[in-house]
Amino acid sequence: MKYGKAAIYYPPTLKNGQFPLLGQNRQFKFTSSKEIRIFPLIPASTATMLKQNGYETLFLDAINLRLSAEECTGKLDAFKPDVIIMETKAPLFGLHLKIAAELKAKYGAKIIFCGDHVSFFPEETLKSAAIDYVVTTGYYDFIITGLLDFLNGKISSMPGGVYFRENGTTANSGAIKDYDLDSAPFIDRDLTHWEKYGEAYLYKPAAYILSGRGCGGASANPSGLVSEKPGKCAFCIWQHALWGRAAKLRSAANFAEEVEILVKKYRVKEIFDDNESGGTWHEGWLKELYEELKKRKLLGKFYISSNARADALTEERCALLKKIGYRLLKVGLESANDKTLKIIQKDEDFAAIEKGIKTAKRYGFAVLLTTMVGYPWENEQDAENTYLKAKELMLYKTHFGDSMQSSIILPYPGTPLFIYAEKNGYLTGNASDYTLYDMEHDIVKGTFDNAAWCKKMWKIHLHPLFMFKSLITLRRLQDIKLAVTGMLSLLGHLKDYGE
Ligand code: SF4
Repeated sequence: MKYGKAAIYYPPTLKNGQFPLLGQNRQFKFTSSKEIRIFPLIPASTATMLKQNGYETLFLDAINLRLSAEECTGKLDAFKPDVIIMETKAPLFGLHLKIAAELKAKYGAKIIFCGDHVSFFPEETLKSAAIDYVVTTGYYDFIITGLLDFLNGKISSMPGGVYFRENGTTANSGAIKDYDLDSAPFIDRDLTHWEKYGEAYLYKPAAYILSGRGCGGASANPSGLVSEKPGKCAFCIWQHALWGRAAKLRSAANFAEEVEILVKKYRVKEIFDDNESGGTWHEGWLKELYEELKKRKLLGKFYISSNARADALTEERCALLKKIGYRLLKVGLESANDKTLKIIQKDEDFAAIEKGIKTAKRYGFAVLLTTMVGYPWENEQDAENTYLKAKELMLYKTHFGDSMQSSIILPYPGTPLFIYAEKNGYLTGNASDYTLYDMEHDIVKGTFDNAAWCKKMWKIHLHPLFMFKSLITLRRLQDIKLAVTGMLSLLGHLKDYGE
């Protein structure tokens, strides 16, 4: 085969001792927290599909495996790739173009770029002679496999969603197909070093999974597996760039089969569903999942945690989630100000978010709240309101495992939020430089210190009442380990914001 060897490569990148949050991260920053190593699910699926289709595959995630440049060079030299696949994001785009040019010169490999930023800007990406193909959307595992099959003459036409150069201009292969998620092979966990990944708040061994692709939004129970009312939050780069503002789930049976492998073969204690809002938006799917897990005698054998929208957390659904074995729910609060929630098109007001979170907490779920600061239309009182409401929610029926994350809002180029910010004159001069979308630079205009508010949010974890309630509800031996890694991670995050 002319293109028989494919490397999926995250080059080693370090800035002042901090690692970039790239693969499987929607919001980019460099972090001092050593505990965050999120498993890049679609690249891992790409590696799996390529291997299954007969390609020799190297999965080289130098960032999360903490590999040095020398170690990577050694592995690439030994492997001699014909194709190199790189996921990139706006802040690393320039650096990755340079690295791609070096790799191309050295190995003569075809270079494929994928990820959110290049899905928005494929033509711009192809201005770099080093890049041969840009594969758009989040279905790049299916598309790249089809592309390699096409390049090797196994199929007669290039799959849709690919941008390339032709006769001195940019061309593309047309619309992407409606891929059947159940047709994807289960991720080859050994090939992709699953055991090296995890986060501070997950029981170990932990594994990541996708129940589907895209945020189902406020949907309740559609007749099929496709959301009728998908999420559309203006800042949510993956929902727009990767999923085309749509959402669909794998069948519950297919999902349960992969869970069974993780639990029985890999002895996984906790599984995190890192789909945009998990499968929690679809009550019918959850009911089927319960039956599937029961049939396989898996209930009570593992914990499952998931992203979720607050409006999905009704009494009925919480009862169902509990029966299935859900433990932790990662829920977006974003802001406690309805004006902001409206502008970012969250499709929920604060009262609905508060209600869902409180219901989940009453049912005993650990809740990980995500918040953001730095909205250019907010004043300091608005930031304070979000802080106070987040604190109140953190102190409401606190039990061990509750936590929160805070970040600075970033209108990534291509998102509806970027367009809104541009239209309203909110962008600073930094906005035209992709490298500055790293949460350390002001991309939108603000009248107060965003980093200070962000740090203040993180510090809610140190509130005496929160710490006391967390400690007295510590129930399991493994919680002690979680408490230590959680504290280390928190210190890393505080350092990120100048502590
Ligand atoms: S609810 Fe969350 S996952 Fe869904 S579109 Fe909004 S930010 Fe994205």
